[in-house]
Amino acid sequence: TAAPIGSMRSRNEIDTITHAVNKLKEQLTEGEAIRNQLVADVAHELRTPIAILRGHLETILEGAMDLDREHLLPLLDETKRMSRLIQDMQDLNLAEAGKLALDRSWAPFGSILEEIVSILEIEAEAKSITLHLDGEGEGELYGDMSRIKQVFINLIGNAVRYTPRGGRVDVHYKYHDGQVRVTVSDNGPGIAPESLPYIFKRFYRVENSRNRMSGGTGLGLAIAKEFIEVHNGAIHVESAPGAGTAFTVMLPIFPPNP
Ligand code: ADP
Repeated sequence: TAAPIGSMRSRNEIDTITHAVNKLKEQLTEGEAIRNQLVADVAHELRTPIAILRGHLETILEGAMDLDREHLLPLLDETKRMSRLIQDMQDLNLAEAGKLALDRSWAPFGSILEEIVSILEIEAEAKSITLHLDGEGEGELYGDMSRIKQVFINLIGNAVRYTPRGGRVDVHYKYHDGQVRVTVSDNGPGIAPESLPYIFKRFYRVENSRNRMSGGTGLGLAIAKEFIEVHNGAIHVESAPGAGTAFTVMLPIFPPNP
């Protein structure tokens, strides 16, 4: 029961209140810092594509650049990157708030992976990377297939992008015990142990791959983690510098109990 106004509060009561107020202050500052960082990151990501678009448009208006395919395609790429960034951010926000709408159905998981691998095969071949898929067991999976596809496009796409020419990317799936387990492993540069705890965070990039030339938005792994978790699954990473990286995804096969 609250002490009447004006009466002395016990030392303990005062300590408890002071502690709660300090904790609240800490949380507010933390929230503010996260928001500031997010705005800084988005500004950073948008600055380059906007600068490229603006520079090209100005050159075109000065009559110094032809309006041909060769000059216009890079502009389209930059606008696509910006759309993807905004879409990814919206999806992440919805997923984190538990409001991501899922369009679930049963689908054959093996052939979905085949489809993704055959799309990324072109990129892999261009770098002489061996991209291999194999699976144990056949079956379907219940989930939002467009989100699940996005996860594996991000993981396998990263493996192909970060692995140097002549490397190897293996995708393996296994149906077991009500789950499907997928590993995406590569023999690329690996990720330093001090970076590993952060790689699922928005906009985190390992320092030496910070260049945007990878074409990513810096949100790929954050999206992958959220999309797997909304399906009650889990994602883990193991990596050693110089040896390569392996991501493991576990997804329950059946719909969750209501
Ligand atoms: P990005 O758009 O930069 O690829 P991601 O969220 O997909 O963003 O990945 C975050 C960072 O994790 C990447 O910038 C890269 O440094 C590192 N990373 C992801 N996958 C791999 C991989 N297979 N091998 C090495 N580094 C990787």
